[in-house]
Order: sequence, then C-alpha cells, then structure tokens
Amino acid sequence: MNLTRREGLALMSAAAFAPAAAAAGTYDVAVIGAGVFGAWTAERLKRAGARVVLVDQYGPANARSSSAGESRVTRLSYGGDPLYSPMARESLAAWTELSARAATPLFYKTGVLWFSPAGDAYMARSLDWLRANCIAHARMDRKDLAKAYPQMRFFDGEAGFLEEETGALIAGRAVQTVVAINEIPFAHARLAAPKRRKGVYDVADGVSAKTLVCALGPWLPKIFPEVLKGRILATRQEVMHFGVAPGDDRFAPGNQPTWADFNNGEIVYGMPDLEGQGFKIAFDRHGPEIDPDTQDRRISADSVERARAYLARRFPDLADAPLVHSRVCQYENSSNGDFLIDRHPEHENVWLVGGGSGHGFKHGPAVGRLVAEHVADPGKPVETRFSLATKAAVSARKVF
Ligand SMILES: Cc1cc2nc3c(=O)[nH]c(=O)nc-3n(C[C@H](O)[C@H](O)[C@H](O)COP(=O)(O)OP(=O)(O)OC[C@H]3O[C@@H](n4cnc5c(N)ncnc54)[C@H](O)[C@@H]3O)c2cc1C
Repeated sequence: MNLTRREGLALMSAAAFAPAAAAAGTYDVAVIGAGVFGAWTAERLKRAGARVVLVDQYGPANARSSSAGESRVTRLSYGGDPLYSPMARESLAAWTELSARAATPLFYKTGVLWFSPAGDAYMARSLDWLRANCIAHARMDRKDLAKAYPQMRFFDGEAGFLEEETGALIAGRAVQTVVAINEIPFAHARLAAPKRRKGVYDVADGVSAKTLVCALGPWLPKIFPEVLKGRILATRQEVMHFGVAPGDDRFAPGNQPTWADFNNGEIVYGMPDLEGQGFKIAFDRHGPEIDPDTQDRRISADSVERARAYLARRFPDLADAPLVHSRVCQYENSSNGDFLIDRHPEHENVWLVGGGSGHGFKHGPAVGRLVAEHVADPGKPVETRFSLATKAAVSARKVF
C-alpha cells in the first residue's frame, strides 16, 4: 500500500494512542477506569506478571475524566508530608522514563516555583524536606524572585523556592501513552455494581476477572453509593489558558517555570505556555458539586474575570491576553485530601481506588505500584490514611 507522508503520520499517531483490544476470557485482574490511577495500576500489574484487562466506559483519559486535559503540576514539596513527597519522587522517575520512551514528550522539566508569605509554615516544612532529601532547589527572597522572573510581580514580605527537577506532565496524552505503549488489553464498557458469579466478575462482553480494581475517579460514589456517597465529592473545577503576544517567549518553558502561589490563603497555580497551548492559570478552590457524566463544561464568565484580575496583579503583561483555551473538569475529593486505596467492605476481591482530590495525577505510578502490591499480597496492610475508615463525610481538607 502506498501512503502519503500525511497518511503515514496519521496512522503512526493513531497507533501511538489506540489501546489494544482485549481478547475474550477470564483475566486475573480487571482494572475498571482508565484514568491515571487505573492506567498505572494496570501497567504495574502487567509488569508484575498478572493477566490484566483495563475497562473504561468512555475510553482512556476521556474528556469527562479527571485525568483529561493538557497539563498537571508534578512537584515533590508537600509541606514535609511523609507520605506524598516520597510517592511523588518515585512517580517522577516513572514519568521521566515513560516520557523518554514516548513518541512525544510527556514530562517538561520546567521547574516548579512556590511562593508565599516568607514566614509560611508549609513552605518552611517543604524546604526542610527538600534539604533533608538532597533535592535540588533554589531558595529566593523577594529580590531574587523579581530578578529571576521579571515577567512576574512579587510583593513585600513574599519569598519562594524553585524545585529544579520537577515541572509539568502532559496529562491526557500521558495516560493514553501508558495504556498504548505497554499494550494493555482494553475493553470499552460500563461496569454496574459488581456481582460475583462462579468466582469471577463479568466486566464486558465475554470478559471476566477474578479480582476487580475500581479506579473510577469521580464516579466512585455513583457506582458505590452505599459505601462512598458523601465520602468522595466531585466538584467543578475550571482551567484557563491565555495566549501570549506573538514572538513573546517570556512565558515559555525555560523562562517561565510552573508556579504555585500560596499567598493570602488563596492557592493559584499555572504553567508556562507548553506546546503552544497558552499560559495556564487555575484556582485550587473547590467549586460546586457536579455529576461527571452531565456537568455543563462551558467556562464561566466569573472565572475568566477572576483570572484576569489575578493576572493584572501578578503577570501584568498578560492582563489583556486573549483566552485561547479553557476546560471544565472536576476534582474527586475525599474529606481531607488523602487518597482511597482499600477493599470494598463486602467484596474482598474488589479494590476501591481514588480520591485524588486535586493532587492525584503526579502520583499515578506510585498508586499503581501500591495497588499491584495489595492484589499480589492480600496480607499487606492498608495504609491508614488511604483506608475507607478514614474517609469522613465532612469536608476538612488537610492535604495541599
Ligand atoms: C483542573 C484539575 C487540575 C488538577 N491539577 C493537578 C495537578 O496539577 N497535579 C496533580 O498531581 N493532580 C492534579 N489534579 C488531580 C488529578 O488530575 C486527579 O486526581 C486524577 O486525574 C484522578 O484520576 P483517576 O484515575 O482517579 O480518575 P479519572 O481520571 O476520572 O478516571 C476514572 C475513569 O473511570 C471511568 N469510569 C468511571 N465509572 C466507570 C464505570 N462504571 N465503568 C467503566 N468505566 C468507568 C471514567 O470514564 C474515567 O475514565 C487536577 C485535577 C483537575 C480536575
């Protein structure tokens, strides 16, 4: 067959992201949900030798999933949290390796710049952790910040630090790559509440499995309302990308790091102009509760106005920049921001995995490794902070 160059490239890119169709049969494990947690769980299980199938109702990193979209921050600092910083470090190595194998980059080492009032306790604990673990970083006072990033404004009493080895992940493409590059068998289907028949669970036409991992993101309380209603809450989140002026590279990687502003109790964060998709800005505040199947995904005028007001103060040359792209998605929040990785209370072969709570993406590889270990070793104790028992019904976020 003679193909034009364009046809050849189209075929290559389709092959790079198209999941391999699952053969009928009984698998050791079916991972339901092909977001970042499910994709990496399937990868780690397959790597450990399990016969695994991945199932999703809409496809890997589909537009409704929490893992979709252009980019996610990957950072190591967690205010000294002994659980998440090591997981982020383990995951960063896996993301870097995947990015090197992929046809296009998935990880951009832009650095992550944190700034907040100079005496902020969270920042001090993050710095202690970075120092104790010999992680490359540069601590900066207001003068250093202003000199290093003239395109930004910093104010009296602010300080910050740059994590040098971290940056941004290309989110949806990275999840699709995990599935495709590792040839993880995939089936398109929607799981109803699991029912075990003759020792197996039916998960798609002709496909069954002995163990289920339900990594359903914001759908967890929809499929398991008796266990998770009120304990995982899906909230509307909005992300905006503003177009930089023609030829202006001050907001491109190399000049502009990924950034997070912890000032005045308001967490605002964003990315440089990655792959020409515009300068990203988002507010980490939880929006109203939504249904991930049906929520209205048009950006609100209020959010654009709030973003412009922020830009005018912090990135004044972007205050009038055109909005070139926006996305409405959702966080799937646990009560305090800790993940959920535990057995279903009535099905010992069904694992519930989720509660990414607005910070889960970067941890995909470590979450996948942990779930794979639980499946392989039923005696492995569940981390208390990830247990169902610690998932309360009242929202009191502790993890940032
Ligand atoms: C705006 C925004 C910004 C964020 N920023 C960051 C960040 O900077 N850094 C970071 O680390 N994290 C960030 N996060 C959080 C992170 O993206 C999420 O925690 C993570 O993607 C959740 O992944 P998941 O696999 O649990 O869920 P999902 O990606 O939602 O995957 C769940 C999948 O399950 C499927 N599914 C559900 N029910 C069924 C069913 N019954 N049958 C079959 N399939 C089903 C769905 O179709 C979906 O594909 C952000 C999230 C958002 C929304």
